[in-house]
Amino acid sequence: MIDKLKEMNKHLQDISTWLKFDTIPWVIAGPCSAETEKQTISTAKELANCPNVKVFRAGIWKPRTRPNSFEGVGDVGLKWLKSVKEQTSLLTSTEVANTKHVELCLKNNVDILWIGARTTVNPFIVQEIADALRGVDIPVLVKNPVNPDIGLWLGAIERLYQAGIKKLAVIHRGFSAYEEMEYRNKPYWEIPIELERLLPKLPLICDPSHMGGDSRFIEPISQMAIDFGIKALMIETHIEPEKALSDSKQQITPKKLIEIIKGLRIRDSVPTDAELKAKIAHLRASISRIDSRLIQDIADRMKCVEELGELKLQNKIPVLQLDRWETILKDHMDKAQEKGLEGEFIKALFELIHAQAVKKQL
Ligand code: PEP
Ligand code: MN
Repeated sequence: MIDKLKEMNKHLQDISTWLKFDTIPWVIAGPCSAETEKQTISTAKELANCPNVKVFRAGIWKPRTRPNSFEGVGDVGLKWLKSVKEQTSLLTSTEVANTKHVELCLKNNVDILWIGARTTVNPFIVQEIADALRGVDIPVLVKNPVNPDIGLWLGAIERLYQAGIKKLAVIHRGFSAYEEMEYRNKPYWEIPIELERLLPKLPLICDPSHMGGDSRFIEPISQMAIDFGIKALMIETHIEPEKALSDSKQQITPKKLIEIIKGLRIRDSVPTDAELKAKIAHLRASISRIDSRLIQDIADRMKCVEELGELKLQNKIPVLQLDRWETILKDHMDKAQEKGLEGEFIKALFELIHAQAVKKQL
C-alpha cells in the first residue's frame, strides 16, 4: 500500500498546473444550490470581486437526507454555470453523483467536479464515476466520506487516479457523529492530517460550511484551518441566505465572506531569523526527548503489566478488575486536571494504554 501511495503522490499533477492562485487562502464559493438564474449569476458576480475566490460552486443535483425537500434544479442549472463562466473570471464546479451527471457536466464544460460525502462512502458509485471519467482531463475534488473512515476516502481517490485523473484534491467537511455537538459534523482533524502525510501532494480544502452547519462557525473554523496550514476553503455563499432552499442556516452573503477572509490571520512565513530558528529547533529537540521518555515509560509499564499477568494466571485471578480500573482512571483524570490537562484527553489516552495492557495479559 505504501508503494502504491508513493507512486500516486509522484504522479499527481501539481495544483499549479490546473489552478492559478496567488492568495492564501484561495476560495471556492457559491450557493449550496443553484436555485434561479438570477440568484446564481448575481452571487457569482459579487464573488468575482474578491481576489481570493477562484472557483464558483453551485449544487445542481442535491443529495437530501429526507425526500420531498428541494432536490436541485437539475440540468437547466448547467446553462447558468455556463453564463457564470462567460460573465466572470471564475472557474465553475458542481457535485456529480452518477454517470449521467458526469456526462452532462462534460458536455457543458463545467471546469471542476466534486464528489459529495454521501457518494464517497460508496465504492460502486465512485467506480462508476471514475469509469465515466476515464480518458478525461478534468480536476476532481473528493469530499471525505460521511463516516470517519480514511480507507474509504483513500479508496475513492485511488479509483479516480486509476481511471487516469491526475488533477485531484480533497475536501474536509467533517464527519457524522451520533452524539450531540455544536457543529453539524465532527472535524476529526487527525484524519485529513493523516491523509496529507500519506499523500502530501494532494491539496487539502476545508469546508467550514458543512462542518459547522451554522454561519456563525464559518469564521472560527476557517481560522482553525488556516492555522493548520490549509491553503483553501470551500464556503457556501448566497445573495439571500435566509431564503436559500437548502442549507439556509450555514450560508453567508458574498459581502460577509469578503469580510471574513479579510479578517483571517495568515501564517505563511518560513522562519529566517536565526534566533527564532534556534528557539524552534530547541523546542523540537525537547519534544523529541520527552517523546522518547514517554515511549520508554510505556515500555516499562507494559513489562510490569506482563509480570502482573503471570501472577494473576498462576493464582487464578481474573485479568480484568473493573473497580480498580475505574479508581485508577478517576485518579488520573483528577491529576490531569490539576496539571491543566483536559480530563477527557487523559481518559482517552489511558483507555488505549489499558486496552493494550489487558491484551498483553490474555
Ligand atoms: C454540498 O457541498 O452542498 C454538499 C451536499 O456537501 P456534502 O457532500 O459535504 O454534504
Ligand atoms: Mn450544502
